[in-house]
Amino acid sequence: MKFCRYNDNKLGVVEGENVHDVSYALEAIPPARWPFPRGDQFVVHLEAIVKAVKSKGLGSPAGRVADVILRNPVPNAPKIVAAPVNYQLHIKESIADTGISMGRAPLAIGDAGLFLKSPTSLIGPDETINVRFPDRRTDHELELGVIIGKTCSDVSRNDALDYVAGYAIALDMTVRGKEDRSFRKSIDGYSVLGPWLVTADEIPNPDALDLEIKVNGQTKQKSNTKNLIYDIRKLVEWGSQWYTLYPGDIIMTGTPEGVSPVQPGDVLECSIERIGSMTIRVGAHRSAVASRA
Ligand code: MN
Repeated sequence: MKFCRYNDNKLGVVEGENVHDVSYALEAIPPARWPFPRGDQFVVHLEAIVKAVKSKGLGSPAGRVADVILRNPVPNAPKIVAAPVNYQLHIKESIADTGISMGRAPLAIGDAGLFLKSPTSLIGPDETINVRFPDRRTDHELELGVIIGKTCSDVSRNDALDYVAGYAIALDMTVRGKEDRSFRKSIDGYSVLGPWLVTADEIPNPDALDLEIKVNGQTKQKSNTKNLIYDIRKLVEWGSQWYTLYPGDIIMTGTPEGVSPVQPGDVLECSIERIGSMTIRVGAHRSAVASRA
């Protein structure tokens, strides 16, 4: 199933062009008091929610996908674990373009390690990526997003996909520069997740998905997750060796070649096979200032 969060925090199931309102299924989430349980509670209770929807049915559509406001489907993601340098041709372009590498030789992913993006940077497709530092290069990085479904630690490669709740399209927006990745990639709005969470049963093989982003109608990145250096199982295994992974944690799996700068007014059209597509706009931060003031 394709679950979206739309309009005023309604839970939807997307079928074709339509959204069905299944907010009733959120009753599967028990009330909680401080300190709230860790994890995105929609994802924690996803199995019960799916069961409730299958039992009650979708009913008639609430509207068309194109007419609702799509939000980030995992609003309480505890963390975003992200893979750098995970497509060979992106490493090649980074070496060739000092605007990406800043003159540093890229490490192999096993040496570079994973990095963390702040979950407060997350937005959905119908919000706007506001360029915070217009004097700095800001790039789109289209990535497959993996949403962890169950708390896990030290997961083996063979079991890794058992801990995945689903998949979504992710954008790892990036200010180029010499600072730490987490600093440059955690700006408000610089992590986009959408247009919905596709449950893992719909994508038995996440390592063979076409992905593409067009900027203002022009294709910039076009690849397939088969080109990942560390595949999805490896990323779950490795990430869970370093951190306990919680329901709603997002793994951004790395970006293929074709990253390029964006500016206010740009329109990004992103698509990943078996997930769908989303369009997001680039805007300007309301009080954008020179970054080195
Ligand atoms: Mn990235």
